[in-house]
Amino acid sequence: MKITFLGTSSMVPTKNRNTTAILINHKSETILIDCGEGTQRQLKIKKLSPAKITKILITHWHGDHILGLPGLIQTLSHSDYTKTLEIYGPKDTKKYISNLLNSFQYQENKIKINVTEINSNKTFFENKDFELKSQKTNHSIIGLAYSIIEKDKRKINIDYTKKFGLVKDKILGKLQKGETITFNGKEITPEKGTIIMPGKKISIILDTELTKDLINFSKNSDLIISESTFSKDLKKEAKKSKHMTSEDAANLAKKSKSEKLILTHFSQRYTTTKEIEKEAKKIFKNTIAANDFFTLEV
Ligand SMILES: [Zn+2]
Ligand SMILES: [Zn+2]
Repeated sequence: MKITFLGTSSMVPTKNRNTTAILINHKSETILIDCGEGTQRQLKIKKLSPAKITKILITHWHGDHILGLPGLIQTLSHSDYTKTLEIYGPKDTKKYISNLLNSFQYQENKIKINVTEINSNKTFFENKDFELKSQKTNHSIIGLAYSIIEKDKRKINIDYTKKFGLVKDKILGKLQKGETITFNGKEITPEKGTIIMPGKKISIILDTELTKDLINFSKNSDLIISESTFSKDLKKEAKKSKHMTSEDAANLAKKSKSEKLILTHFSQRYTTTKEIEKEAKKIFKNTIAANDFFTLEV
C-alpha cells in the first residue's frame, strides 16, 4: 500500500501545510481519506490523478476535512470518470453531501455517487484483497476512525517445491489456493509447499480524544496515522477541543502494540514539528511527523 499525505494541517491551511487529506493506493483501489480545501491542487502538485479515486472515507464533517469535496466532485463530473464514486462517512453524511452538491450550479453533472452512512463499529467493505473497518471516535462532533486490513496471501515456497522438480506448472495454482496436490506421484501439502504472507494493517485515527476503544481498534497495526494537533504542554487545549497531543498519539501506538506511527493534523501555531516528533519518540520510538507530500509504502 502506498500512502501520500496531501494535507497535514488542522483547522486552517498554512503556507506549508494544507488541511487534511490522505491518499492510499491498493492495487485497483485508490482511497482518499478526508478532502480538505485545496486537495485537488495538492494532487496536481504530486502528479496524482483524481480520476483514480474509487472511494472517499470521511472521518467527520468539520470543514478542514471536507471543504475540498465539492471542487473534487465537480472536476470528476467534468472528466471521463465512469466509475461510481463511493463515499463513506458517519451519520448525516447523505444530508451533508446533498447540501454541498445543491449549493452551486454544476456545469455538467454526470458523476454517479453512492453514499453510505456508517452508524456502528464494523467491517463496511470487503473484497478479495482487503477489508475496511470503522470505529467511533470521541471528538466534539460524531466521527469515525478507519482501518484498512489486507488479507493474508499464500505464496509458493519454491525452495520446497523445487525438491520435487516443480518450479513452473499449472498445478501450482491449486497449491496456492491451499489445496494439497500430487506431482510425479508425490504429495505436496499447502502447509509445506506455501508460505503465508501476513496482510498489513493501517489505522487512521483523526480528530478524537484517546480512548480505550481506539487502542483496541488499532491493535497490532503495521502503521498508525494519528492526529497530533498539540504538543504535550497544551494538554488542556487538547482536552477542551477533544484532540490528541503528541503523547496521546504515542501512547495509542505503544498501547496498541503497533509497528510505526505517523503524526499529522498539526495546529497552525507550529512552524516546525520537530519538538512534537521528539515528544512522541520518547514514548514510541518509531514515529515520524508528516509534512505535506510525505509518501511511504507499507
Ligand atoms: Zn480537524
Ligand atoms: Zn474536527
